[in-house]
Amino acid sequence: MYPAAFEYHAPASVGEALKLLGKLDDAKILAGGHSLIPMMKLRLAQPKHLIDLRKVPGLTGIKEDKGMISIGAMSTHWEVESSKVLKAKCPVVSETAAMIGDPAVRNKGTIGGSLAHGDPAADMPATVIALGAEFVCQGKKKRTVKVDAWFTGLMETALGEDELLVEIRVPALAKGTGAAYLKFPHPASRFAVVGVAAVVTLDKNGTCTKAGVGVTGAGSKAVRAKGVEAALTGKRLDAAAIEAAAAKAADGVDVQADLQGSVEYKAHLCRVFAKRAIEAAVKRAQG
Ligand SMILES: Cc1cc2nc3c(=O)[nH]c(=O)nc-3n(C[C@H](O)[C@H](O)[C@H](O)COP(=O)(O)OP(=O)(O)OC[C@H]3O[C@@H](n4cnc5c(N)ncnc54)[C@H](O)[C@@H]3O)c2cc1C
Repeated sequence: MYPAAFEYHAPASVGEALKLLGKLDDAKILAGGHSLIPMMKLRLAQPKHLIDLRKVPGLTGIKEDKGMISIGAMSTHWEVESSKVLKAKCPVVSETAAMIGDPAVRNKGTIGGSLAHGDPAADMPATVIALGAEFVCQGKKKRTVKVDAWFTGLMETALGEDELLVEIRVPALAKGTGAAYLKFPHPASRFAVVGVAAVVTLDKNGTCTKAGVGVTGAGSKAVRAKGVEAALTGKRLDAAAIEAAAAKAADGVDVQADLQGSVEYKAHLCRVFAKRAIEAAVKRAQG
């Protein structure tokens, strides 16, 4: 399949990219092209202009600043997977990136592309929800969007039409905090049939003082599992407490039946993977 005809633009700066985005009718940003190009080939997207960010400097790089880790939106999944900063300070982000697709996808696809696209079966959304990430958008002005306001619907985000996603910020995890992302992968694409990320903070008595849980794959967008978080917080996380909290993993998710499974099956996977992700996060929090 060939995409419909389009004009290609390769700006050399963020300013130039924004100017093109404001001026051109029906333009789309091109990052790694691993979601947009397949959609164009299927004619599900037919933009008249593509604005390629690959020659724009300053959109890659991963660094820590005052307890937050800044990830340039054009960092590839491979760069996120292999980042020394992330592996040391927030390894769950590297681990999530390592589970995306295959090496070809990870070498081209970008974290910004994944989070701007908002595919309901993408992996990174669950992890950034659980971590309470922030998104830096650049339009005429720069603004920061908290993750709870980011995923607005099926492949819809809070990103404005005249904005670029330039940076994603995640917290450096302190001692006593553990995090894990686990998924039931589609056997061909590796997309998440269901994926759950959990972040827990334990005090010195082993009581959970803070919990973040994100669920992807099951519904029309990735969501925060608020019921699970509430059930974990304030409890000593023994097997019974984890089981009881994980039982709420599908509450508030608009679980969709699809070729991968029925509503009941996918809701079951939410509970199973929530339990496993919480158990893994607790183990890490305990050191
Ligand atoms: C075979 C295959 C398997 C895959 N498996 C998985 C998987 O297991 N898990 C998973 O999570 N994903 C998977 N993916 C998707 C992959 O991770 C993509 O790389 C990602 O979803 C999109 O990133 P991209 O850089 O390729 O973005 P693109 O395809 O270039 O863009 C995607 C969308 O985001 C917009 N966009 C991109 N960057 C920006 C930006 N900085 N600012 C504003 N808008 C922007 C574009 O305009 C477009 O609408 C798979 C893809 C393929 C082809």
